[in-house]
Amino acid sequence: MKVGIPRALLYYKYNPFFETFYSELGCEIIESPETNKVILDYASKYCVDEACLPIKIFHGHVYYLKDKCDMILVPRIMRVNDKEYICPKFCGLPEMIENSIYDLPPITKTPIYANNKEKLLRWANREGGNITKNKIKIKRAFDNALREQEKYTCGVNDEGYKTKVVLAGHPYSVNDSFLNMNVIKKLNNLGIGVITEEFVSKDDINYEVDKLFKRPFWTFTKDTYGSTVYLADNRKVDGIVYVSSFGCGIDSVLIELIKNNVGDFPFLILKVDEHTGEVGFNTRIEAFSDMLLRRKLS
Ligand code: SF4
Repeated sequence: MKVGIPRALLYYKYNPFFETFYSELGCEIIESPETNKVILDYASKYCVDEACLPIKIFHGHVYYLKDKCDMILVPRIMRVNDKEYICPKFCGLPEMIENSIYDLPPITKTPIYANNKEKLLRWANREGGNITKNKIKIKRAFDNALREQEKYTCGVNDEGYKTKVVLAGHPYSVNDSFLNMNVIKKLNNLGIGVITEEFVSKDDINYEVDKLFKRPFWTFTKDTYGSTVYLADNRKVDGIVYVSSFGCGIDSVLIELIKNNVGDFPFLILKVDEHTGEVGFNTRIEAFSDMLLRRKLS
């Protein structure tokens, strides 16, 4: 059986788990390529206009895979931590896909509660049961998948740059270099290093989040807010670069929360959608880089 894995959304964080799980069940894995112009064109054509760019891009990857495999992973990720949720768009992702792209092979629909091993095993039994009836094989695949996931780290922490910024945003906004127009390379070329939230400890994130009037129940808000404010307040970075998707409700709250807490600390917000022009994007990064340099010299 060929299982298609779209290289989009939380692929960048959880792919080792899914890839190992399906490989151990004897499936051949077909991954879509990194996001590119063709996938973006599919995305614009096969997703509703109102969706944010990352969700559109996910549609593009599914369309790319649809005639190349027997089944497509569409992870309906509900939770990864207790008492928190992922964005609502993830909860309805399979329905968005099947109502926008026709003639699909079967897609996965079982909700994923990754905050709890037993609940995650239920997902594995349900989805693995569509491939084999051998429960022992499913359990072994599940255990190995968890082990591979635990070994995996993602994120960026550049060394050797005199100027450094935190690159904030959802994991796919930060890791998909087509979506973010290669922002890491652009910053590096201007002599600016980058650090991402994965390099801030959970304790430091929680310390910042606990100071808020109300603890955010969105995982993305908690992680990005806590890590960004921690790095800015403790002057571990010289500025904040936030890659935000046009139309993201979570970002609209999160950006204001960060702004309110970091005061006049340098903060660049880069909004992206499928129409964002690269020239304007470059100009803003260069102007921000000049400003950081002037602050250092003054
Ligand atoms: S968190 Fe924002 S960018 Fe991510 S899927 Fe939800 S609406 Fe889109």
